[in-house]
Amino acid sequence: MGKEFIRVYRELDLDEVAKHLLIMGDLTGDCGSCRCLGIDYYSAGTCPECGVPFKYLTSRRLEANPGERFQLARRMRDKRPDLTFIDYTDYQKLMGQKKARDFFGS
Ligand SMILES: [Zn+2]
Repeated sequence: MGKEFIRVYRELDLDEVAKHLLIMGDLTGDCGSCRCLGIDYYSAGTCPECGVPFKYLTSRRLEANPGERFQLARRMRDKRPDLTFIDYTDYQKLMGQKKARDFFGS
């Protein structure tokens, strides 16, 4: 049996993830911390704008092209073994809940 990609669930600190997240777009990435655009997601170790070190990686393509999910995970594992690949939908959902909580002050 070969090695395959299977999604696992891990408990992570949402603030920590948001602060060190590199979000892949189609051609370039953006910083989850300061929203800086145009980052090379294959090579950037830190954000060129705010300087945070990247630790996590996600992609908007995961949501738009769910069929490519495992190909993408494999490619990013090969290119960026230093970063933890997380699910974009999970991240978006949690950030939405956090923003709502902060807004209502509870
Ligand atoms: Zn930044």
